[in-house]
Amino acid sequence: MSPRPGRSEGGSHRSAQHEGYSMTHDPNCIFCKIIAGQIPSKKVYEDEDILAFHDIHPWAPVHILLIPKLHIASMAGLQPEHAALLGKMSLLAPRLMKELGVSNGFRTVINTGPDGGQEVYHLHMHAMGGPRPWLKG
Ligand code: AMP
Ligand code: ZN
Repeated sequence: MSPRPGRSEGGSHRSAQHEGYSMTHDPNCIFCKIIAGQIPSKKVYEDEDILAFHDIHPWAPVHILLIPKLHIASMAGLQPEHAALLGKMSLLAPRLMKELGVSNGFRTVINTGPDGGQEVYHLHMHAMGGPRPWLKG
């Protein structure tokens, strides 16, 4: 499968994915498949850079994931050019939680790497809220 059309970072597509590098789309990545509409999700928000959807195994009454549309494997792969994207995700989290009725605070988590408990290697921010008790966290 070819990379998603219509978007390129710095005008070129990086063909290899190594620790610390990103490419626009990884055909084997479950979150890239969600972005491409190949796997269904309960979408909360979408723009040209970011998608947010409900976590399939929520820990809290409201548990969403915010992901960049650009395939960045983990926080360890962030580059200076991603600063605005991460800023945008951080600004979006409180807005979406408010829109979802979360009014008494929430938790944001970004798991990074094996010891960080990361299971899906496409950078994502968890945002969890709603009345406690929660399943985890
Ligand atoms: P992490 O351990 O930070 O990598 O978390 C990955 C999260 O992705 C977990 O909370 C999973 O429940 C969630 N997840 C995995 N597959 C899907 C999916 N198809 N739709 C929504 N959430 C998913
Ligand atoms: Zn991906």
